[in-house]
Amino acid sequence: MSKHSLQFKEVSFLYKKGQKQNQDHILDSLSFEVDEGEFVSIIGPSGSGKTTLFRLITGLEQPVHGEILINGHSYSDRFGKVGYMPQQDLLMPWRTILTNAALPLEIKGIHKQEAHKQVIQLLHEFGLNGVENMYPGDLSGGMRQRVSFLRTVLSGSNVLLLDEPFSALDAITRLSMQEWLLEQWEKWKSTILFITHDVDEALFLSDRIFVFSEAPVQSLEEVVVPLKRPRAIRDIHSPEVIAVKEQLIEQLRKQVKS
Ligand code: ADP
Ligand code: MG
Repeated sequence: MSKHSLQFKEVSFLYKKGQKQNQDHILDSLSFEVDEGEFVSIIGPSGSGKTTLFRLITGLEQPVHGEILINGHSYSDRFGKVGYMPQQDLLMPWRTILTNAALPLEIKGIHKQEAHKQVIQLLHEFGLNGVENMYPGDLSGGMRQRVSFLRTVLSGSNVLLLDEPFSALDAITRLSMQEWLLEQWEKWKSTILFITHDVDEALFLSDRIFVFSEAPVQSLEEVVVPLKRPRAIRDIHSPEVIAVKEQLIEQLRKQVKS
């Protein structure tokens, strides 16, 4: 039996008064599970609560009801239990690539020298050879995403949350980053949750795709991607995948409640 990396059990959430007028639930008794080693994409309308879901998993927000389990544990403090790559890259412009990437290790209390050693050992794998002493402003968008990704992976967690990581990249860079991410994931066997707006990206990368409705989200429509691995980008043009894509687009249309 496969183990779950992540479980939501009847989780409800709303933002408290004072921050915004909106007092409605974002999640309403939502339950779902993600298996160990799975790649799951999340797709849905803007403002439906996808980023909020990640903030709940990381412990930046707390559910008003229900339980969130990571690797089978219900932690009172989930902070640091998952690797989180937020929507905007949060690289600090005044820090070098090396010291940006080493940040999560330093926060964990690992000595600077040791932290830097660990980063340097991974630079090659992340296609970042020779950039360690540069600054974020010296790098292309794709390279900065690799640094952000390296930093997320250095959190040491087997569960990675990636919030639209490639949405700002041009089409060619995006494709090579998608291929690179799949290679890394297949090597590391981590569990990935990946928010995207791009149906083709979700189909190419994922085992399953969750479709969010407009808030409040009570349940997730789910699509299983009928492709074996390893995959090539042309695979998403096969008749089976095109049929799934049509189903997905139909579901997305239904989710926008007018
Ligand atoms: P998505 O990532 O799907 O676009 P979000 O999770 O960012 O959606 O937002 C879901 C809803 O919650 C939106 O209506 C948004 O305006 C609201 N929201 C997001 N963050 C906050 C916050 N810190 N305080 C109050 N409301 C928020
Ligand atoms: Mg978002």
